[in-house]
Amino acid sequence: MEILNGKELAKEIRLKLKKEVEKEKLSPKLAVILCGDNEASKVYVKNKSKACDEVGIKFEEYILPNTTSQLELLNLIDKLNENDEIDGILLQSPIPKGLNIEEAFERIKPEKDVDGFNPYNVGKLCIGEDGFIPCTPFGIMKIFDKYNIDLEGKKAVIVGRSNIVGKPMTQCLLSKNATVTICHSKTKDLKSELSDADIVVAAVGKREIIKADMIKEGAIIIDVGMNRNDEGKLCGDVDFESVSKKASYITPVPGGVGPMTVAMLMYNVVKSYKNRRK
Ligand code: NDP
Repeated sequence: MEILNGKELAKEIRLKLKKEVEKEKLSPKLAVILCGDNEASKVYVKNKSKACDEVGIKFEEYILPNTTSQLELLNLIDKLNENDEIDGILLQSPIPKGLNIEEAFERIKPEKDVDGFNPYNVGKLCIGEDGFIPCTPFGIMKIFDKYNIDLEGKKAVIVGRSNIVGKPMTQCLLSKNATVTICHSKTKDLKSELSDADIVVAAVGKREIIKADMIKEGAIIIDVGMNRNDEGKLCGDVDFESVSKKASYITPVPGGVGPMTVAMLMYNVVKSYKNRRK
C-alpha cells in the first residue's frame, strides 16, 4: 500500500508556481468573498491566503455580514468583475441561508471564475474544452498523474454528487476513459456498487462511511471528506485504519486531497492572469 501524499505534491506545485511568478514577473491577484460567519470557511480562506503569500499572488478579502442581501452580493461581484487588476474571484461556500449561491456563481465572469463553478466553465468541462476545472477534482487528477495511475478502462465509483466535487469528478475521470458510477444518498446498495471498483472517490461528509469490507482488494482510495471525530480531530469519509490495509493506494486526511485543492486554486489564478493578458 502506498500513501498518496497530497501535502508533498501541493508543496511542489506551489513552489513551481512561485518560480514561474518570479521569473516571468507576473502579478496575479485573487479576490475572495467571505459572506456570513462560518468558522470552517474562515479557516479555509486563511489557508488560501497563506498559499497566495507563498506563491506571490496578491490576495484581497471581502468580508460581508450575515445580513447581506442578494443584491449587495451581486453588486460586489460586478465590481470585482470590472476591476481589471483582479484575475480570480472566489465566493467561499456556504453563504447565509436565503442567498442564492448558484446565481452568484453565474454572475462571476467565466474568465475570472477560478473555482470553475460558473455554468459556462461547467459546460466547458462537460464537452472537454479548456476552461477552469473545479480545484478539488483537478487536484485529484494531479495526484493520479503524479503517481502514474492509469485510469483508462478502470471502474471508478464516486460517492457524492455535489456540484463542487462529485459531478465535476465524473467528467474528469470520463475524460481519461474510466468507466464511472456515481452514488448518492438514494443509492440502494452502496456496498455492492463499491465491491468491484478499481477506484473509489469518497465525497460525502460522513465520518468513516467507507469501510474495509466494502472495497475490493487493491482498490485505489481517494478520500475527499473533511469531518471531525469525537476529539475534534480532522478525519475523512474513509475508515483509514482498516481500508489502508486492503487498498493499493490511499489519500490520508489530513494531508491528501485538502492541500491539493488549495494548490490547484493557485494554479487557476496564475492561469487566469496569463489568459487575460494573452
Ligand atoms: P455535499 O453535502 O454537497 O454532498 C454530499 C453528497 O454525499 C451528496 O451527493 C449526498 O447525496 C451524498 N451522500 C450523503 N449521504 C450519503 C450516503 N449515506 N451514501 C451515499 N451518498 C451519500 O458535500 P460536498 O461535496 O461539498 O463535500 C463532501 C465532503 O468533502 C465534505 O466532508 C466536505 O467538507 C469535503 N470537501 C473537501 C474538500 C477538500 O479540499 N478536501 C473540498 C470540498 C469538500 P444526495 O445528493 O442524494 O444528497
